[in-house]
Amino acid sequence: MNNIFELMRKYNCEEIYFKYDSGTKLRAIIAINSTKRGEMCSGGVRLRNYKNEDAALWDAFNLSLAMTQKCAAINANVGGGKAVIWNSKKEKTPKLITSFAKFMCKLDGRFRTAVDLGMDFEDGNIIKKNCPYIEGLPKKYGGLGTEGDTTAQGVIRAMKIGAEYLFGTKSLKDKTIAIQGLGNVGGYMVEFLTKEAAKLIVTDIDKKVIASIKKKYPKVMVAPPSKIMNIKCDIFSPCAIGGILNSKTISSLRCQMICGSANNQLEVPDKDIERLEKKKILYLPDYIVNAGGIIQAIVEMNRGTKEEAIRNISVIEKNIKEILEKYKNSMKNTLTIANELVERRLK
Ligand code: NAD
Repeated sequence: MNNIFELMRKYNCEEIYFKYDSGTKLRAIIAINSTKRGEMCSGGVRLRNYKNEDAALWDAFNLSLAMTQKCAAINANVGGGKAVIWNSKKEKTPKLITSFAKFMCKLDGRFRTAVDLGMDFEDGNIIKKNCPYIEGLPKKYGGLGTEGDTTAQGVIRAMKIGAEYLFGTKSLKDKTIAIQGLGNVGGYMVEFLTKEAAKLIVTDIDKKVIASIKKKYPKVMVAPPSKIMNIKCDIFSPCAIGGILNSKTISSLRCQMICGSANNQLEVPDKDIERLEKKKILYLPDYIVNAGGIIQAIVEMNRGTKEEAIRNISVIEKNIKEILEKYKNSMKNTLTIANELVERRLK
């Protein structure tokens, strides 16, 4: 059992809110990680059937910290937060989502959200009807549209900078790229990388998702979920869940670079980054490359346009260039350099 205050100290988390609703069985956590860069905090809401309370807390603490890092890295005057709902998809009813929205609304706009893993736009629309503080919904629900495509574009722009560093060219043509997860972001990754003429090997735990991708893009190869991390490829792109790079998985990786949208890819960041370094795998820090979603959310909060959001993702390229420049000229790993960049911007 975790000690909550000890976890708050460890993750530098300022505030944490819990909700249990006996009617819908909603179990929700909202973590406000940091208000250093702004009183208003932003972060997605995720629904997962966590195996226990510790796992739900781990996600809330880690993901809200990642939001703080993301907002600082892009120089936004917004703090980092995250909401997690610990329920199964079967339990996800309109009443449960309404209950969550009312809980979130009590924070009176200090926490703003967008739909994340396990949540869809219909859920987001229910939130919006009960609590206006949500971005990233489709136009028909009054939003700026999905953030998945903007996030995918940011990941790919970062990948190109990484490719230039490793292979001497930004072109991803004929590069073999393995994608784990074909959801909101992963689906767009396939679309955009197909246009770049990359060779794609993809996987998802949902067979229907695979079938629909295969129908749309017959040339992509499909691997079983258990094999995607052992495939020989140029770039591995994790676009599903966190914690997948760890003491068990890193030894069998056969890629040269990792660049994907999933949050908290490294299970134990300081140890796992060293494991990747030893294998000479270039790691582009997740919270730097996947900032496209929050970039769009901030533009939406300020009533800007999708075009503006796409323009603003150039900050991701700038950050990755800065990190790789320092990486080339120092003994530090890419994660340490990214963390230092964030620390400077949090001051
Ligand atoms: P999503 O729920 O739409 O898609 C995730 C996909 O991954 C699903 O199709 C799911 O079946 C699959 N999946 C889950 N576990 C898997 C596994 N073990 N192996 C293979 N596939 C698996 O989520 P999303 O919006 O595409 O986000 C993907 C990741 O990117 C998440 O970690 C999310 O936090 C992160 N992220 C998303 C955004 C965004 O704009 N949506 C922004 C920043 C970061």
